[in-house]
Amino acid sequence: MPELPEVETIKLGLQKKTIGLTISNIEVLSPKSFIGKAKDLKNKKIQQVWRRAKILGIDVEGRMTLLFHLKMTGQLIYNPSTRLRASSRFIGGHPTPDMRDKMPNSHTRVIFTFSDGSHLYFNDQRKFGWIKIVKFGEGIPGTLGPEPLTKEFSWQILKTNLLRHKSMPVKVAIMDQSVVSGVGNIYANEACFDAKIDPKTKVKDLDDLQFKKLHSGIIKSLTDGIAHGGSSRAHFVDAEGRKGYFLDYAFVYGRDRKPCKKCGTTIEKIILGGRGSYFCPTCQQ
Ligand SMILES: [Zn+2]
Repeated sequence: MPELPEVETIKLGLQKKTIGLTISNIEVLSPKSFIGKAKDLKNKKIQQVWRRAKILGIDVEGRMTLLFHLKMTGQLIYNPSTRLRASSRFIGGHPTPDMRDKMPNSHTRVIFTFSDGSHLYFNDQRKFGWIKIVKFGEGIPGTLGPEPLTKEFSWQILKTNLLRHKSMPVKVAIMDQSVVSGVGNIYANEACFDAKIDPKTKVKDLDDLQFKKLHSGIIKSLTDGIAHGGSSRAHFVDAEGRKGYFLDYAFVYGRDRKPCKKCGTTIEKIILGGRGSYFCPTCQQ
C-alpha cells in the first residue's frame, strides 16, 4: 500500500503536469471506483493538487474537489499528449509489470481526458481504491491526526496523542492515523530505528527524550522516503522518470536476517499488531 511519501511523490508529479489543464472528458469504467457525477467536472480547470495523510486532492473550478485514495492496488498514470515523448509518462502507486504498457488496460477504472490531449488513468486491480467528488473543503475525516511534515506536528502533540494508547507497543501506536497521519508500516519501523527505540516498548514506558527522538525519527524517515521517490519496488517511476528506491536506503524494513547498517548486528523480525516489525536488537534497546 502506498504510504505518505509515495502519495506526496504523486502529488508533486501531478502538480507539475496537471495544474491549469481543463478536464474535457471523464470515462467511468467501474462505477464502484467513482463516487459523484462525473459530468459535473466537464470543462472545469484544475486549480490545485494537494495531499492530506494518504488522500490526494485535486481542486477544480466551481469549488469542487476530487479526492483519490489508492488503497491496496491503486495506480495513477499520467500520459502526456502524443506530441510529447513517451518517457514523460508519470506513474505512481502500487507497482505492477503492466503499468508502463499501453493504457488503458484491463485494470483501468476511470479515464480523465484533458484539453491538451493528455490523459490521467486510475487503475485499480482489486477495486478498493476510490475517487470521490466533494465540495471544496469537505470530505477529509476529522479524526485524522496532525500532518507530520507541518509545524502543527510537535513532539508534545505526538506525546499527548500517543498517551491515549499507554499499553500499546510504540510502533503499533504511531501507525494509528489519529495519532499522526500518514505513517504506515515501513516508516513506523524506520522511525523507531532512527529513534533507537525497541518497537515493542509500551508507550507508557517512554520518557520525554524518547518522545522527542521518535518525533524527529518520524519526520526524518518520511523526508528520506520522499527524497528517494517513495518505497514502491521495481516499477515505481516518479514525475521525472526516476524509480522509487527508498527500500534500498531503509535501515530495518524488509531487512530481517541482514546485518544492521550501523552496527552489524543481525536485524530481527517480529509480528506486532499483525504487522511485520523489524529492528536491530543492539541499536534499539
Ligand atoms: Zn544496529
